[in-house]
Amino acid sequence: MQPFTYERASGLREAAAAVAARPDAKFIAGGTNLIDLMKLEIERPTHLVDISRLPLRLIDETPEGGLRIGAQVPNSDLAADMRVRTRYPLLSQALLSGASAQLRNKASTAGNLLQRTRCPYFYCRDMPCNKRSPGSGCSALGGFNRLHAIFGASEACIAVHPSDMAVAMTALDARVETIQPDGRSRVFPIGDLHRLPGTTPHIETTLARGEMITAVTLPPPPPGRQLYRKVRDRTSYAFALVSVAAIVDAASGRIRSARIAMGGVAPKPWRSIEGERALGGRPAGDEIFAAAADAALAGARAEGHAAFKIELARRTLRRTLAETSQGV
Ligand code: SF4
Repeated sequence: MQPFTYERASGLREAAAAVAARPDAKFIAGGTNLIDLMKLEIERPTHLVDISRLPLRLIDETPEGGLRIGAQVPNSDLAADMRVRTRYPLLSQALLSGASAQLRNKASTAGNLLQRTRCPYFYCRDMPCNKRSPGSGCSALGGFNRLHAIFGASEACIAVHPSDMAVAMTALDARVETIQPDGRSRVFPIGDLHRLPGTTPHIETTLARGEMITAVTLPPPPPGRQLYRKVRDRTSYAFALVSVAAIVDAASGRIRSARIAMGGVAPKPWRSIEGERALGGRPAGDEIFAAAADAALAGARAEGHAAFKIELARRTLRRTLAETSQGV
């Protein structure tokens, strides 16, 4: 591991300013992804700013009836919070489907959002990777790519974002709060946090240098049933091949509204407006769920081995929609 210096942040603004002041500085909180990457010398920060003890560990009610989740709330605490379990069950389900109990105890809310891809070539320094080494090429194109994207990829990178939590938050229309080095704060939809790779896959978010996530706010719980379904190669401690976060509001056999987000399929949590439109105002039933799944997957494209994911996503979405609509 490359040598680095360390400081414990004394305040929010101070933390943001400390990272902005040094080009190779990074925030560290739980470290569940960053430390692994530093050991492999894929991440090579010269200075770490520890934000794990900043006062960002509370989950507060908002005046609107939602929840404001501090950036340093551990994944395990968030999953276990009774307000999350009862009002946002798909978020709790998504969190508990991710990583292991030990990792969830350490991983923070903001760190989960900002974790990096698990593309195997990104972790192999002997192989070209545009995300790790811009301009070097993409080994996954034409390589082992069954875990890779079916939406949002580019010729420079076909990696997927690995978070489950972010997929649930996307379906819930969460908003991200940040503080910038000059002390100003910013609030924006979670869908605006992650960038698609384009020609610059090494730039993964819209955060400015030193900008630090301070909280994620959930609006009041949407009407309807919520469900998170994750399909993976083994039933624990594995990233999603495909996951679906679905919220369906239906009554008297008719769907009033629906929200769909998918994970394991794109460089960012993938909201499917097409799938949602195919459901709204229609009678609940397998024919409509199949049509919605077709609409959601209409734009999917795969490189080589990932082609099976298109059908897997179609079936997973169809089944998840059916489960959220049982008995309506
Ligand atoms: Fe690197 Fe992206 Fe290609 Fe994987 S898919 S090798 S992360 S450029």
